[in-house]
Amino acid sequence: MSPAGLQAVSCQGCGGAVAMPAGAPHPRCLFCGSEAVVLMPTEGIELPGTFLPFEVDQAGAQAKFRDKAQASIWYPGDLRDATLELDPLLLPAWIWSGQVETHWAALVRGSTRSGKRPRTGSDTKRVRGVLVPSSSAISRAELDSIAPFSGANSFMFRADQAVAPFELGKLTRTAARKAACDALAQQHRAELASANATVSFSGSHLFRELEGQPLLLPVYVGAYRRRGKLHRVVINGQSGAITGEFPKSWLRIGCAVLLFGFIAAGLGLALLLLIWAATLYL
Ligand SMILES: [Zn+2]
Repeated sequence: MSPAGLQAVSCQGCGGAVAMPAGAPHPRCLFCGSEAVVLMPTEGIELPGTFLPFEVDQAGAQAKFRDKAQASIWYPGDLRDATLELDPLLLPAWIWSGQVETHWAALVRGSTRSGKRPRTGSDTKRVRGVLVPSSSAISRAELDSIAPFSGANSFMFRADQAVAPFELGKLTRTAARKAACDALAQQHRAELASANATVSFSGSHLFRELEGQPLLLPVYVGAYRRRGKLHRVVINGQSGAITGEFPKSWLRIGCAVLLFGFIAAGLGLALLLLIWAATLYL
């Protein structure tokens, strides 16, 4: 599809780039909150074919943040009252399926003098739905910590009817294919090594029938301000899984340490008194 009916902006602060239907408002950067966003050309933008719809609404996403803020006694009390600005965003990724064949050689535990014996093998596995993130603003670690996304309900994507702004993907098909192969190989090695109780493992891989499609994942990105500092939060728009910066309260940790210290000192003192009393009367 041609990018008609589309506008794109990039942030001068963090470099994040998003596109949205023409005419939609774009007051600030969704990733860093900066208002220094500039229009960028839309020619050459390759649009993904499908997107996964949001299943958690704005209120639901806000509720996930409140739950998280109350989830640990180590979080400061004012975290519950922090105002979180959340925006829906469609995050670019690739989804791959295919077959990986691994030929391996390993040392496994055995009843030899060294306790190990050599073993070789090969195995073929068919995989579907391997996600490779293509975002430059959201890190792999952030995406991994709110995974998984279910591809069961995917819809055709039309940029001029996008349900939310979408980030422009950074991975070409070739780069995404390489990342998918690395992920498949790593996963298959881990499975084989664990299934065969190996001590050391080396393998080579062949990939067949690899097919990849770009798609968009539903997330909410936002930030809350606490003591003048912005903390980023990312929420899975399907499951509500949340990741972000949640500061620990040093006051609460300090109080707990003091309390523990007092209890330990009290117990020590009581023990000393007991010993003293015992020496007096025995
Ligand atoms: Zn930015």
